[in-house]
Amino acid sequence: MSFDSLGLCAELLSAIATQGYTEPTPIQTEAIPVIFAGSDLLAGAQTGTGKTAAFALPIVQMLSSDPVLKKRRNPRALVLVPTRELAAQVSEQMQNYGRRLSLRSTNIYGGVNIQAQIERLHRGVDIVVATPGRLLDHAERGTINLGEIGFLVLDEADRMLDLGFIDAMLKVAEYLPPARQTLLFSATYSKNIKQLADELLDQPRRIEVVRRNIAADAVTQIVYPVERSRKRELISHLIRKGEWRQVLVFTRTRYSADKLTAELLFDGINAAPIHSNKSQSIRTRTLAEFKRGELRVLVATDVAARGLDIEQLPYVINYELPQVPENYVHRIGRTGRAKESGMALSLVCEPEKPMLAAIEKLLNYKIPRKTIDEFPVIAVKRGMKLSPAKKKRLAEPKKKPVKAAKSPASVKTTKPKRKKPVEERPAPKVGRRGARSKKF
Ligand code: AMP
Repeated sequence: MSFDSLGLCAELLSAIATQGYTEPTPIQTEAIPVIFAGSDLLAGAQTGTGKTAAFALPIVQMLSSDPVLKKRRNPRALVLVPTRELAAQVSEQMQNYGRRLSLRSTNIYGGVNIQAQIERLHRGVDIVVATPGRLLDHAERGTINLGEIGFLVLDEADRMLDLGFIDAMLKVAEYLPPARQTLLFSATYSKNIKQLADELLDQPRRIEVVRRNIAADAVTQIVYPVERSRKRELISHLIRKGEWRQVLVFTRTRYSADKLTAELLFDGINAAPIHSNKSQSIRTRTLAEFKRGELRVLVATDVAARGLDIEQLPYVINYELPQVPENYVHRIGRTGRAKESGMALSLVCEPEKPMLAAIEKLLNYKIPRKTIDEFPVIAVKRGMKLSPAKKKRLAEPKKKPVKAAKSPASVKTTKPKRKKPVEERPAPKVGRRGARSKKF
């Protein structure tokens, strides 16, 4: 597929060539025709997929093709974004494409003087890229007229929800004409995103892509098949033996984040949880400690990790796999520095196998398996019941005839720490309920 076949005009093709893009990314290939066709769009795509150009190119072209409307002073396209950094980024792309077609664009966000923004809006713009709060402020003061908006883009809609912009988004929508084209981009698809889409979109087309080559990129992925009851020992073993210093661990629920944190602390590993039950000030402090290297392990839930700037870590461990495969991509995207490779490890027990299969299907990649002697995998057939004694016997490493003395570290970890029958109960109900309703 080439950019030529997407119906883009010569000016935009030249802008694309200047940027060095040779072929459209999957989100561009799929979204651009849908946008040109006039449909609303619900797109599952995260940063790094080329989503900005996917909406910016067709919008700019459609805005420029109406010579009458072109003379208007009120904005005709509005892009809502969660942060001022993203506003600046998206606005730069809009300007880059737009100026070739004589379109004016500006960005509007909070934390800066409003007067300069009022003046820019007064001079007239075609495209506004804004954070919801400050835009609403302008709408309420009457310093922006949103009555001629023909295109509304909700970019990184899931992050806008995480940051509590739902009311501001819905209020902004009240200022917009109902006859408009609305495009919603979100890295994950949750019940809340669905509700937002039901509220603001009209019979949207749905498309979904994941970041390209994530599996082959800078992240080394490994699956450790392990019994659920031995995950805690295995994680302590990996962190200590590898002498890992900055480790982000994901659990599915707040309950398991707290439980694992307590266990790691018990094992002498400095850890702290970060999830939505913690106050904002505690979260900020914990994150700062983790970034400064004072905290070895940060145990996070998906929701808590989403709003945090904790990217590019050397190690990410999935203590429990996420219920929805896209969140795996999210999680492991936190590792992999620019030139160094990152490690994303997943501790996977038997009941999680279907989740692993779904993740591998999404990635189109079979993640390499690894076992360590101290943590053998017990092949238990579905429905097979084992007595605690048999389970213990199976869990013990096979005795080899003559074995060289083990290193003190590995001897230590082979000792079963808990003699009690292992936890075989399913994950707590709150977790599963939480996963369905809150995690995405
Ligand atoms: P985005 O997902 O919009 O944040 O884009 C991520 C990065 O991909 C940006 O640095 C873009 O400049 C780049 N990009 C967007 N489209 C293409 C393309 N077709 N080919 C190569 N790079 C692209």
